[in-house]
Amino acid sequence: MKERNGNLNGEGSVLRGTAAVHAGEARRKPYAALTTPVVQTSAYTFENTAEVMEFMKRKEAGAAELRHEYGRYSNPTRSAAEGKLAALEGGERALLFASGMCAVTTSLLAILGWGDHLIVAGGVYRRTREFAEAFLPRFGVEATFVPHDDPASWEAAVRPATRLIYTEAPSNPTLSVADLDLLSAFAKKRGLLGAADATFATPVNLRPLEHGLDLVFHSATKYLGGHNDLLAGVVVAPAALASRLEEAQGVLGGVGSPHDAYLLLRGLKTLDLRVRRQNETGLRVASFLESHPSVSRVYYPGLPSHPDHETARRLMTGFGGVISFEVRGGLEWTSLFIDRLRLPYIGPTLGGVESVVQQQALFLSTDPEKRRRSGIADNLVRYALGVEDAEDIIADLKQALEF
Ligand code: PLP
Repeated sequence: MKERNGNLNGEGSVLRGTAAVHAGEARRKPYAALTTPVVQTSAYTFENTAEVMEFMKRKEAGAAELRHEYGRYSNPTRSAAEGKLAALEGGERALLFASGMCAVTTSLLAILGWGDHLIVAGGVYRRTREFAEAFLPRFGVEATFVPHDDPASWEAAVRPATRLIYTEAPSNPTLSVADLDLLSAFAKKRGLLGAADATFATPVNLRPLEHGLDLVFHSATKYLGGHNDLLAGVVVAPAALASRLEEAQGVLGGVGSPHDAYLLLRGLKTLDLRVRRQNETGLRVASFLESHPSVSRVYYPGLPSHPDHETARRLMTGFGGVISFEVRGGLEWTSLFIDRLRLPYIGPTLGGVESVVQQQALFLSTDPEKRRRSGIADNLVRYALGVEDAEDIIADLKQALEF
């Protein structure tokens, strides 16, 4: 383990508990406060013109340690959160954005230009897919969508203009896990960048950079924040690439706010505790659901029945807190089942301390034709575990399935 300021901060540790508490934050903080303060300012001031000149010279020379200038470029609270996130992923630099989508869209716009091509392997969050399918073509960038588990299809999709292969592990909603070792070997062989959105995994369960990928994305709104009270996104990348992404962030402007950065820092301190508990509860709840006669299928990478179970076991140290399952019934029975649940909230999110459930099809559309085209079954339920007791979650599911 590395030490900073003579104190153990967990950077470089393979375990994530110590890093989650200490990494990224100065040991000695303003006013000797125990926690990193929210520096709620839009800009930073200069004593006189000489200080401006000195700053500009250092900036133009590419100095690494620059003072703060303007809130779109940096903020001390944000920098602390970024330092912690980089340490947790084992990456060189992290950049904090206003949302997960902002991290993905800004980064892809920075990396891809007119005439470029990207490969999307497996199912991805529907807005990410929409961005690749409908937005990027307006900037001359094409995407090919291939299965996450068919390397031959990745090979077939590669073109001279391909720059990047992108996956989501585990994916929403079927919790598919691409073999990141294979994916990064493929990317290296073809001279591509490899990227994974690991929102569902968190660095507690999966660290894509350790498997040779170049970029990791998260919707920090989910497990990293962990309390359903902030919107943020992060990309972790090697320093040179991060500088390019930072330039794009400075132009496009979607930075994480100081207050959200503070909430994120606070949430991250218990990431390891929360996720370990969610892993444990996840296995218990998934096994219960799989054994229940009113449930026809369960998607959870920790179950031997999941098609990617072996890959997940090799890559991940836990399988997370999201379980998708199909109940025996149609749209209406599924809605009734959800309405009978007493413990989880109904909503379109995951990763916080409160359990949240959703009938995915209804969050897509109330129009049956649109739902059919999306491929999401009417009886699919996504249950995102909070940190409540497994016994209570299971008892609640049981009463709702057996009414
Ligand atoms: N990536 C994944 C896997 C997600 O589930 C989401 C949101 O649900 C996003 C990215 C987008 O994140 P945000 O809502 O913070 O913009």
